[in-house]
Amino acid sequence: MTQRTASCSCGALSIATEGEPIKVSACHCVSCQKRTGSAFSVAVFFDEAQTTPAGTASQYVRLGDSGQPVEFNFCPTCASTVFWRPAFRPGWIGVAIGCFDDRGLRPTQAVYEHERLDWAAISIEGRA
Ligand SMILES: [Zn+2]
Ligand SMILES: [Zn+2]
Repeated sequence: MTQRTASCSCGALSIATEGEPIKVSACHCVSCQKRTGSAFSVAVFFDEAQTTPAGTASQYVRLGDSGQPVEFNFCPTCASTVFWRPAFRPGWIGVAIGCFDDRGLRPTQAVYEHERLDWAAISIEGRA
């Protein structure tokens, strides 16, 4: 099975994944823009059973539009958010695409396109 590792800027917080992701979702919402400081976020979703975190994480919890919390786990030293748990998808864990050593992961969907910065067009496989 495919093994991958995602880690923070300083390397102290990481998560190992096994097998293929459930989906890879780009999110253009303003909350993701604020959280990342960038134009959008890309979550590589796995079943939590496919993942093994390592290192110490700090948590930030915010309510999503669903009214349910999302727990973001970030490195207390370098502040990279490496993975998160959305309560509206029990048992799922989203891992930040940019934290992966594997450069071959690609988004399979995009959400919140109505909040997308107009220059931030990305290509989704199988979509024009
Ligand atoms: Zn770190
Ligand atoms: Zn978002």
